[in-house]
Amino acid sequence: MTDAKNTFLAVSIADCTPIMLYDPDKNVIAGIHAGWRGTSKSIVGNAVQLMKQNYSVVPANIVAFIGPSAGVCCYEVGNEVAELFPNDCWTEKGNGKFMLNVKKVNMLQLLANGVQESHIEVHPDCSIHNQQYHSFRRDGKNSGRMLAVIGIKK
Ligand SMILES: [Zn+2]
Repeated sequence: MTDAKNTFLAVSIADCTPIMLYDPDKNVIAGIHAGWRGTSKSIVGNAVQLMKQNYSVVPANIVAFIGPSAGVCCYEVGNEVAELFPNDCWTEKGNGKFMLNVKKVNMLQLLANGVQESHIEVHPDCSIHNQQYHSFRRDGKNSGRMLAVIGIKK
């Protein structure tokens, strides 16, 4: 995160969820890489708290964008992962596997940390089945990466 102008933050992803935060009042930006591990520890909530502490940001002013990433349609996880998340953020497949909605978990964490629902945009695309995105889950170690970039021009 930064309040520096002409400084662009980039988050490299292939299925993990990029989250861009912007406070137009204090002119502070943040780029967050939220994989399931970071999401299970509320990395986006921690980012909001750090924006408060370091830049006196009021969470209700923050505008948030949750980018294209693994969707609940394709993101299959085991019980050991699903159990880390609220039970309204996954559905059971019946074969010991669960479909996890990481975007929803991150949205709930933003709300819990004071970001207004009307300030949160969630991109609907799933990077796993949508061929226009790179996907680690689909292409394995040969997968490319995407960059989510945020910055404030002077
Ligand atoms: Zn999908």
